[in-house]
Amino acid sequence: MASIIDIDEYKIEKASTELFKKIQPLAERIVQLQSEMKELGMFANHRCLAECSRCQLFEDVTGKGMLIVTHGADYRVDTGLRFEELDKISGMDNAVKCPSCQSIFCPIDKEYFYTFDD
Ligand SMILES: [Zn+2]
Repeated sequence: MASIIDIDEYKIEKASTELFKKIQPLAERIVQLQSEMKELGMFANHRCLAECSRCQLFEDVTGKGMLIVTHGADYRVDTGLRFEELDKISGMDNAVKCPSCQSIFCPIDKEYFYTFDD
């Protein structure tokens, strides 16, 4: 005779498997769309925008979704440089390399920190 805990675990496992089957095709489609966006030069929202604290080069997104890399007072002018996305190195996920000063860092979501100021 199964206990209540066994039944709940079975239902949870079954629901989890069904949910995964439903989500997997959507996740694959999102990854495909992100890849297409990157090929077009757009920002795919797959990571935070990069801002190099060493040389102040930073990424921005235009109103049309195009990724640009800019610097200082000329913040609307695309330098044409691009931060290099590095695969996992030394346990750093989403690490990037600055094309100007070669610094390696993980872009952070500044808005995340601002929410604690409220
Ligand atoms: Zn830099």
